[in-house]
Amino acid sequence: MFWDESIESLERTELEQLQLHCLQETTRRVAARVPFYRDKFAELGIAPGSIRSLADVRRLPFTTTADLRATYPAGMLAVPMDEALRLHTSSGTTGKPKAIFFSREDVNNAAELCARSFVMTGVTKKDVFQNMMTYGLFTGALVTHYGAEKVGCLVIPAGPGNSERQLMLMQDFRTTFVHLTPSYALYLADFLEKRGVQPRRHLALRKAFVGAEPYTEETRVKIEEGLGVDVYNSYGLSEMNGPGVAFECERKNGMHLWEDHFLLEIINPQTGEPVPDGESGELVLTTLCREAMPLLRYRTRDITSVIPEPCECGRTHRRLNRITGRSDDMLIVRGVNIYPQQIERVLMGARGIGRNYQIRLEGLDEMTVSVELAEAGFDGQVEHLVTLQGQIAEKLRAEILVKPRVELVPPATLPVNEGKARRVIDNRKL
Ligand code: AMP
Ligand code: ZN
Repeated sequence: MFWDESIESLERTELEQLQLHCLQETTRRVAARVPFYRDKFAELGIAPGSIRSLADVRRLPFTTTADLRATYPAGMLAVPMDEALRLHTSSGTTGKPKAIFFSREDVNNAAELCARSFVMTGVTKKDVFQNMMTYGLFTGALVTHYGAEKVGCLVIPAGPGNSERQLMLMQDFRTTFVHLTPSYALYLADFLEKRGVQPRRHLALRKAFVGAEPYTEETRVKIEEGLGVDVYNSYGLSEMNGPGVAFECERKNGMHLWEDHFLLEIINPQTGEPVPDGESGELVLTTLCREAMPLLRYRTRDITSVIPEPCECGRTHRRLNRITGRSDDMLIVRGVNIYPQQIERVLMGARGIGRNYQIRLEGLDEMTVSVELAEAGFDGQVEHLVTLQGQIAEKLRAEILVKPRVELVPPATLPVNEGKARRVIDNRKL
């Protein structure tokens, strides 16, 4: 099940030679064409021709989100504007977005990487793909759309939401796989349950590629049960083409990062120094093939680790562990560091609990976790509710060392977002 076996299982030494060649090219190109990098190189005394090994990447400057905002709209462009074929922006809620340009080659490469990513789980041209990512300025939907078309699948550009219509499309066109966010996947699972649809019996759905936001193994299990599918983790970010940066193969055990296109580093986010393989840190990526907008050492702020062991599937591109959060989404509550993922893990592993939750921080340092009850989880007895509430608060305390107030709410009463879920609401007056 390979889209391009020769590159997907290229010997490591050859892969690294290819990476070095592309890194040298990229460094030369940005030095010649992007004033931002030319100035940085001058500041740091870097001669663009002085990159001789992959380890030399560490001499190059980081690129940050702030740099992309500061050079908005077109300061990072490395080709004449008329060579740019497509513009995307990153998702973000406030201020100016990050503008990402693609050349014709970049558009093609992005689709190619998605094609590889789909095919390694067994997708073929016979499959029917219902794309539930958000179409528009985001990369999420268009990049996967063209990837699936490249494979030859029938692609249904459904977008997220409108679950009634999603169900109709899935039934009428025998959809076999979807790409969607974990929050929408959980919502859709609820919807199917309410409608009495048993996905394994009534639908042709077999696989779901789930990504664009962090989620836990517990959530994967919930989605697999609720949608009757195998869930494959899908990772990407607009700054690196969008989806298709790292996906899981049929083993569902870590995401192969396409190393012929991206040079990977994991660093300590505080010191910027590399961490050993297997240890958690911030993912830093350098584009190796991008024409329109190459980026050096981009600080993704995503926290993950490398799985150094080779994968049984035979691919040589190394795997990343599940993203456990972002270096900037850590909450500090009463002096304790907490990642929202820790809370999700407890909730999704608890019985009687539904699929949606929200974390609210108020007042001086009060934390409330609101969580929906499962459709079938509540027998109407108040004392059972109180017991459940106490159990969850206790489990949370054991995990995050702070005891939050737990609020159990009826199913389908918490707000649902079509794009990325907003799980944390911080209204503290500190
Ligand atoms: P965007 O601005 O839409 O390109 O969002 C990219 C960001 O979404 C990444 O930097 C991650 O923080 C997050 N993301 C994407 N895919 C995943 C995934 N599979 N697991 C966790 N976070 C993800
Ligand atoms: Zn594999």
